[in-house]
Order: sequence, then C-alpha cells, then structure tokens
Amino acid sequence: MEPQHGCRSRLTEREVRPVGPACRVVLAGRPGAGKGTQGARLAERLGVQYLSTGDLLRAEITARSPLGRAIEGVVNAGDLIPTALIMAMVDSCIDSDGYVLDGFPRTVEQAVAITAHEGLAPHIAIEIVVPAQVALSRLTSRGRSDDDVNIACRRLAVYDTETAPMLSYLAGHDLLRRVDGNDGPDLVERRVWAAVEPLIGTRRTHPANPVAFGLPTGTTAFVAAG
Ligand code: AMP
Repeated sequence: MEPQHGCRSRLTEREVRPVGPACRVVLAGRPGAGKGTQGARLAERLGVQYLSTGDLLRAEITARSPLGRAIEGVVNAGDLIPTALIMAMVDSCIDSDGYVLDGFPRTVEQAVAITAHEGLAPHIAIEIVVPAQVALSRLTSRGRSDDDVNIACRRLAVYDTETAPMLSYLAGHDLLRRVDGNDGPDLVERRVWAAVEPLIGTRRTHPANPVAFGLPTGTTAFVAAG
C-alpha cells in the first residue's frame, strides 16, 4: 500500500550496506543531541530504513498538506502533536524489516504502543545524552524555525516532562542504553555502534516482549491508543 505521507529514507541504494538481519533501533535524546546525524549513519551501517518523525512532519508543513497545516502551529510552538496523528504517520511509513527511528517514541503512550507490537517492537533504544545547556547552544546555532531560543527552551522542557518518563519506561523493559553525546560526531558514532553491534546476529528475548533478530517480522499495522 502506498504510504499516505511523504515517507522517504535518507539512504540511497548505493549507500546501503546490510551487515546483518533486520534490526530495529530507537534513537532518543534531547533536541540537539545529534539524533539526525547519528541516525542516518547508523541506518546506513545496518542497511535499514532511517525514519525521522520530525523530518516527515516538516515535509508535510512545507508541502502545505492538510496534515501539515493542522500541525504547523503545534510544531512551531515546540509542543508535541497528538499521539493518534503521529502514530498513524509512523504506521504508514515504518519498515518492519528494520529501522532506525529518530524522534519516536517520545511519550510513554507511544512507547507502550510500539513495544507491544511484536512485529515492530524495537530491539534496543539508545539515548544520546547531552547536557541541556549544550543542547540549547547547538539548537540556537542551527537556525531552524522551531530553534528560536524560546521555542528551543520549550522543546527541551517538553523532553523533560514527556520524554524522560518514556526513557524510564524503556529502561524498565531493559531496552535502553545510554551513550555520551557530548563529543564530535565520529566519536559519538563509535559509541552508538558499540552499543548496537553486540546485538547483531544474536537472539534477544525479553519476557514481556519477545523479539529476536533474524526472525521473520510480522505486520506493520499497529493501532493508535487514544
Ligand atoms: P524533531 O525534529 O524530532 O525534534 O521534531 C520536531 C517536532 O515535530 C517536535 O518538536 C514535535 O512538535 C513534532 N514531533 C516529532 N516527533 C513527534 C512525536 N513522536 N510525537 C509528537 N510530536 C512529534
């Protein structure tokens, strides 16, 4: 089925170098932590889809689509868009054969939904950790419309109130690894890879959420809660 949204990977076929079976990775971290850079690099190494919900939403806004017009104010204010909308978008774009997800899940509700889905549940989540002050100075120097200092502060506050509990949820399910992001992109990339590499080609089963590398993956549909 054709996706309803402007789904695309940053990877070209030439760049894809599959190194193992389907791998599903969630990248988390404050806005400005470097998820975009690291997510694209990791997806290239793994030969899987890179999916950034922020990129998808910005493309909708730029295209002035009905969805884009509906969410523009919320995104530009630095707030999160409603869960049902983001889940419908992810549902139509995500590749069950493997992914690196950047910007999703961002709330406990979103994490519950994706981890409960056998065919889509992440094998690992990596938080790229940077201090709030570092994140703020990176955000305000890159010049995106939602990176104005007040909005950047709002986005960092939303991260603390909405996303930090989501990380606790993932940690409680033994899915979370933390990586120091307060260095240059190449060093951080090595740290991210060190967290992911041991899982390649191994089976990993969680009692509450059985997932295993190399097993056939299931349907891509999951239902938005609420
Ligand atoms: P990002 O580029 O990931 O920082 O996302 C930019 C903006 O898109 C966020 O500030 C939110 O307004 C919106 N957004 C991205 N991902 C999500 C999500 N998982 N849930 C709700 N809103 C999101």
